[in-house]
Amino acid sequence: MAYSYDPQNVFARILRGEIPNKTVLETEHTLAFHDIGPQAPIHVLVIPKGPYVNFDHFAAEASAEEIADFTRTAGEVCRIVGAAPGEAGGGYRTISNAGEAGVQEVPHYHMHILGGRVLGRMLQ
Ligand code: ADP
Repeated sequence: MAYSYDPQNVFARILRGEIPNKTVLETEHTLAFHDIGPQAPIHVLVIPKGPYVNFDHFAAEASAEEIADFTRTAGEVCRIVGAAPGEAGGGYRTISNAGEAGVQEVPHYHMHILGGRVLGRMLQ
């Protein structure tokens, strides 16, 4: 499948430094920052620095190093923001919306990390 990446999307602009962000953690291949419209007390977005439109694009074409860096960074973010399940009030949900059915707004792969309150059931 051929994926088409729009370099003008808002997260590409954040990565180029054209739009500010509230960074939680940055590594060689990954950036994590606070969502501008938080849906929970903790709402962080984790994005790869590479030009991937969604999860299946990232999974298919990112290098093993990028994928490992992304995964380890996302896990570290959970601990940094106090969402790791072992902590008081801890626990979180990760979500990645893709395409029309997933109601994806920003066409740059991102993982939402939500926590800080009991989120309620999602899949019923
Ligand atoms: P949805 O809006 O349906 O959750 P996405 O999964 O594509 O769609 O999520 C995009 C997320 O990006 C939203 O939660 C939105 O609040 C966030 N967002 C948009 N612009 C910015 C920005 N400049 N800085 C931080 N977060 C942003």
